[in-house]
Amino acid sequence: MAKVINCECGFVARGDTDDEVVEVIQGHMATDHPELLSSVDRQDLYGWIQQT
Ligand SMILES: [Zn+2]
Repeated sequence: MAKVINCECGFVARGDTDDEVVEVIQGHMATDHPELLSSVDRQDLYGWIQQT
C-alpha cells in the first residue's frame, strides 16, 4: 500500500512508508515552497498523508 501527500500546487509525493512520503514532500517544499515549509511542522505533514 502506498502513501501519498497531494501538494496544493499539484505535486504528488509518494512513498512506501509515512516517513518516506514526509521526506519527499519536505524536499519538494524546500525547493518549491520554502515559505510554506517554515509554517508547517512535521505533525501537520503526517496529517496530510493519504493511503492509496
Ligand atoms: Zn507544491
